[in-house]
Amino acid sequence: MEDSQFPSLDARLRAMGEALDGAFREGPDWVSYHALNAECLYVTPSVRPWMNDEHLVGRSFASWPMREEDRPRWASVWLQVLTGRAAARLVWGHGALGASRWVDSLLLPDEYRGELVGVMVWHRDVTDRQEREWALEASIERLQVAYGLARTGYWELDVTTRRLTWSQEVYDIWGVDPEHFASTYDAFLETVLPEDRPLVEQAVSRAMHTHTYELEYRIRTGRGQIRSVRSVGRYHERDGGRGVLFGAVKDVTAQKESELALAASRELLARSDKLAAVGQLAAGIAHEIRNPLTALRGFIDLMYQRARSHNRRYLEIMRGEVSRMEAIVSELLRLARPDRPQFQQLDLVDLVQEVVAFMNAQALLHGVDIQYAPRAASVTVAGDSNQLKQVLINLMRNGIEAMPRGGVLRVSLWEDSGRACVQIADQGSGMRPEALARIGEPFYTTKEQGTGLGVMVSKRIVADHGGELLIESEEGRGTTVTILLPAAQSPA
Ligand code: ADP
Ligand code: MG
Repeated sequence: MEDSQFPSLDARLRAMGEALDGAFREGPDWVSYHALNAECLYVTPSVRPWMNDEHLVGRSFASWPMREEDRPRWASVWLQVLTGRAAARLVWGHGALGASRWVDSLLLPDEYRGELVGVMVWHRDVTDRQEREWALEASIERLQVAYGLARTGYWELDVTTRRLTWSQEVYDIWGVDPEHFASTYDAFLETVLPEDRPLVEQAVSRAMHTHTYELEYRIRTGRGQIRSVRSVGRYHERDGGRGVLFGAVKDVTAQKESELALAASRELLARSDKLAAVGQLAAGIAHEIRNPLTALRGFIDLMYQRARSHNRRYLEIMRGEVSRMEAIVSELLRLARPDRPQFQQLDLVDLVQEVVAFMNAQALLHGVDIQYAPRAASVTVAGDSNQLKQVLINLMRNGIEAMPRGGVLRVSLWEDSGRACVQIADQGSGMRPEALARIGEPFYTTKEQGTGLGVMVSKRIVADHGGELLIESEEGRGTTVTILLPAAQSPA
């Protein structure tokens, strides 16, 4: 039986056009109708503010003005509608009329007598909505990035059940994986360093009265690192008196580290200021003092020869004091104008041996036994032998002086991964941490006859050799000083 109403697609279109044209004269929506080969057969007049209908009618989607990347998307949606005979949707951009706009299109298969005859597409301009959505997405993304960068996370503690809720960032800071972490207050406390646990517990119980929570504490992460975090929160009682503590936590390790580094470099600066001042003073004063001292010494010696025995005792003391002044002056001069070092290839095994032999006499007087055990046949460094001897003498002397009741001074020497190591270990008084921190400061001495310059000069010489001086000490047990120098290739 023939359908008298729609003898052909043309007639169907005409009828459809009449129905739609009135409804879609203006407004945000427009409708197009397409043959199965995608050719656009008709479009409602409401398209005009958005696009020129001449660019659409008589053309397939493939040649509509649109963003290149949308053409394949159109093609696949089109195919989906033809094969699935179901509606489909896509948002695409068209570049007509200058500005690019966004269109949300709904494709509806048109079936006539059980046959697919065409596709009707309902279009809506969604530029404003799309731009708002994108702006929102972008700002959410930026916020997430910012949160990630700031390494800040959100947490919530149900005080009654002691259950914890963490955002992903908290897991990231803690270096644990949500599946392997029991989200309870107790499991959390376990991650806090034992020394800081009381702080956290106090802050939590305080928060129940003051309603605010704020503190810094350290944690051990799932990867075994120690990190500092700063947490702020609020306590809130829900209906029924259920207490919830919630807030944000931030990784402040880097901040802490840079604060520490800053403090350290300030101190270093202060110390090197002192050094520079000492150097300048030393250059001036030491020079002025040296000559009068020589004169004093000469006359003391002269008087000594002529003095009666009871006066000799005083003159001996004077001579001792003058010697000490001379020692200070020459150390100061060395500091202010260190002799230009004469670098050459040296075998430390021999050099240390020489110094040990030289120091033995003094050691014996103090009841100290110097035991020298090089662990290599030769260890070569590039250095100034006089300066390095000076370092060894200063440090061995300190070791001997630290053992007034005698003992063993162990001197060892070895080479390890490109570094020559000389170690001088005494069994003496050792130092408290406060003293250890000050050692090497100009004029820091605990000895009545000390200059407080020995360690400082030694550090400076070692540093000039590209090395390092390490001092470890335990009060009452002894001190170990290690000189690290860059090892040179042994001469062939
Ligand atoms: P001085 O020996 O003239 O006092 P130093 O710079 O050599 O100056 O040493 C500074 C201070 O460091 C000493 O007075 C002493 O308190 C401490 N010290 C140095 N070496 C040792 C050591 N081996 N054992 C204990 N204390 C030491
Ligand atoms: Mg000394």
